[in-house]
Amino acid sequence: MALAVILGGGESGYGSAVLAAAKGYDVLLSDSGALKEPYRGRLLERGIAFEEGGHTLERILGAEFVVKSPGIPETAPVVRSVREKGIPVISEIEFAGRYLAPQTRTVCITGSNGKTTTTTLIHEMMRAAGFRAELAGNIGRSLALQVAETEAAAQPDWYVIELSSFQLDGMFAFRADVALLLNITPDHLDRYDHRMENYVASKFRIVQNQRPEDLFVYSGEDPETQAFLPQVLPGLSAARTAFYVKNTPPQAGGGDEATAWYDAATGLMHCGGFEFPVAEMRIKGLHNIANALAAVAACRRAGVPDSVIAATLRSFGGVEHRLEPVATIGGVEYINDSKATNVDSVWYALQAMTRPTVWIAGGTDKGNDYEVLLPLVREHVKALVCLGLDNAKLVRSFTGVVPVYDTSSLEAALAAAREAAQPGDTVLLSPACASFDLFRNYEDRGTRFKQAVRNLLP
Ligand code: ADP
Repeated sequence: MALAVILGGGESGYGSAVLAAAKGYDVLLSDSGALKEPYRGRLLERGIAFEEGGHTLERILGAEFVVKSPGIPETAPVVRSVREKGIPVISEIEFAGRYLAPQTRTVCITGSNGKTTTTTLIHEMMRAAGFRAELAGNIGRSLALQVAETEAAAQPDWYVIELSSFQLDGMFAFRADVALLLNITPDHLDRYDHRMENYVASKFRIVQNQRPEDLFVYSGEDPETQAFLPQVLPGLSAARTAFYVKNTPPQAGGGDEATAWYDAATGLMHCGGFEFPVAEMRIKGLHNIANALAAVAACRRAGVPDSVIAATLRSFGGVEHRLEPVATIGGVEYINDSKATNVDSVWYALQAMTRPTVWIAGGTDKGNDYEVLLPLVREHVKALVCLGLDNAKLVRSFTGVVPVYDTSSLEAALAAAREAAQPGDTVLLSPACASFDLFRNYEDRGTRFKQAVRNLLP
């Protein structure tokens, strides 16, 4: 029996192991650390071989192919050895994609920011239209597990798949019926030899193998996307829709299917024959108009009726930890944007603020350049509360621009924010940084922030 080796035993690794076993492979799941529950127990239950706390290289190098979890870098010694031996290394989505039923189609979403929001919105639109649609990828259950556990005939009409660049790196034959590339801003550059072009090229893998009947949705105004596009277009046969939120697209109008855009003058978004007043959306901010436009283009293509698209745009309240309203206390509105772990997402958060804002930021700095935020900070921010173990860089960047508070606990940060805020203001947690200095992860940070805010309720 051919051996399939799965590196990493989290959600995607576990799913890949189950799928490989179901497809008759001899399977070894190998993890350099300790396996977490529920995966460990479930592997035992299913009798799937695994090892943890290290890799048995002799065994691994006998693999026909290796499914690498997105979290494992190319520089890991085990990956280097596998590559030297010439063994193919693929990602979970590539592997699962081999077993998709002919009737099942995929809409794949990538970008530096907005993936989860857009993926969730598309899924809701499809569900509201009565399609059988399932979430997969970085969100929810792994695609591999779903494919393993569903008879081919019972697979859904659509898988709506959120893709990180790490998943895309291991994708070769996979084809997206609808591919969305939302935006590209610097992130994770440590995994790309600190070269932006490598990261951009990785994101563009989303269009590989697309056919004329497929659709590619991308930003018509994102500089990195625009710069790379000429390298891709000659080989791209898919239909295309570019979306615009800041500018009017060239020759906009006339129900052109090739563009989707937001007209700030009228407050309407347009996509082909679809028109919608943006003020009726519950999710706010230019970035969410971009996410919505991309979702509208994808769903119209998939056959979701315009009436259902409009109804979903009105009802969709966004995803937890993304500009999530928490409470209004004493006239001060509290917003949890803990997922904003880079400067670009903070830019959009500040841009969406309509009231004087006390901004809570900080954590583990990923090499941030705060310069781009200065105009928005001057316009919207009345005080900055730094929340981190080492706030030196933030303090330096904004001292003299706005009053700055230096704190190193959530309680102290909230106390400072309350002191700075007056009725009619907003307190916004939008950190621009990772959370690992004081919290388990961004969810933990957001959840504890919300709890602490709710504790202030009378
Ligand atoms: P991802 O899954 O790509 O991390 P999310 O939907 O979880 O994206 O949003 C992450 C953060 O980025 C949130 O703070 C959100 O407010 C912000 N954001 C969402 N969409 C966009 C966008 N299109 N451009 C920039 N920032 C965005």
